[in-house]
Amino acid sequence: MDEDDPKTLLITLTGKDRPGVTSTVFSTLAAFGVEVLDIEQILLRRRLVLGVLVTVPRDWKALRGALERVADDLGMQVDVDRGTGDNRSRPEGRSHVTVLGMPLKPAAVAAIAGRIADTGANIDRIERMARYPVTAIELHVSGADPDRLRVTLAEEAARQSVDVAVQPATLLRHGMRLVVMDVDSTLIQGEVIEMLAAHAGCLDEVTAVTDQAMHGDLDFEESLRARVRLLAGLDASALDLVYDDLELAPGARTLVRTLKRLGYRFAIVSGGFTQVTDRIAADLGIDFAAANELEIVDGRLTGGIVGRVVDRAGKAEALRRFAAEAGVAEGATVAIGDGANDLDMLSAAGLGIAFNAKPVVQRAADTAVNVPYLDSIMYLLGISREEVEAADALDGVTTPEPPLARR
Ligand SMILES: [Mg+2]
Repeated sequence: MDEDDPKTLLITLTGKDRPGVTSTVFSTLAAFGVEVLDIEQILLRRRLVLGVLVTVPRDWKALRGALERVADDLGMQVDVDRGTGDNRSRPEGRSHVTVLGMPLKPAAVAAIAGRIADTGANIDRIERMARYPVTAIELHVSGADPDRLRVTLAEEAARQSVDVAVQPATLLRHGMRLVVMDVDSTLIQGEVIEMLAAHAGCLDEVTAVTDQAMHGDLDFEESLRARVRLLAGLDASALDLVYDDLELAPGARTLVRTLKRLGYRFAIVSGGFTQVTDRIAADLGIDFAAANELEIVDGRLTGGIVGRVVDRAGKAEALRRFAAEAGVAEGATVAIGDGANDLDMLSAAGLGIAFNAKPVVQRAADTAVNVPYLDSIMYLLGISREEVEAADALDGVTTPEPPLARR
């Protein structure tokens, strides 16, 4: 703090909220000819905390007396602190740290805040983004390199069984982005190839291979071709039956509906099959889609795939291609996936999110989200549940309330 800085008064008013508190306080200040430098107000349950920073009037003790009388009348407490200067400017290295808990426990908050303090960073502000079905809290942090902070907090998040996302606080947050989603076990529940295999009578064989492929233990293309060969002879109408049985991930429609209102673009990039993914894309209004085409001759699957396979590298290529087509910088893309074949796509994206992912994916991605609600990803983008519900209400839609799940 500089000796030459002008004197300032910090006024903190707390107590039960009632109509007209803020107006009454500022009417009192008006009579003393001060200048307002900063105001912060929060409401927790029905308790108000109002902080005001003003220039010091000639007779600051008279102002303090007046404020004390006002607080007394309102049944509130006031603290008037004479000091110097404005708020300290926040140091470089600013991040948004989002914490998702289900439930959010004090020990997890203590651990996350402790690791932030260990890096020498400061928590400047905390606010709630959602209360249901997950508790989401956003911390504004300054004074730490976001990449370093991300590594530190990812370790702690795993220990505490909460999800933590660290993103640099930049203008990106306010712009339109491209969201690229994997399909099987991300946008939809389960794996389409296993549902087809159930119809073909080879479920056990296919499930074993899918599991190894998604954990990164097998080459994706080779394993996909081997599994599709097992489907040879299956009637193509099985694809319709599978489509009718599909269940989207909870929150999928809310995510797409809300972000499309903001002009976001969406892509699905899948190691699954166009015969299913193109219909999902059309249903949800997804702008871009890439997947593998099952070969069908005379109404039956041949066990072959038409053209090139969308593999791990192909998924990242598709992300780049769609970003270029949408006119979105790669840094402004968000990729969401769960399997080992999503790894390149997740690292190509500006924000790569491992969604209820296999361990190998969680370890490699920027961010892991392990709550089962796809719309929770909006809290990472700085959009609150309250804003989502308000936007739905304007359109006459009731935001779905997914059933609570325990993790
Ligand atoms: Mg998947």
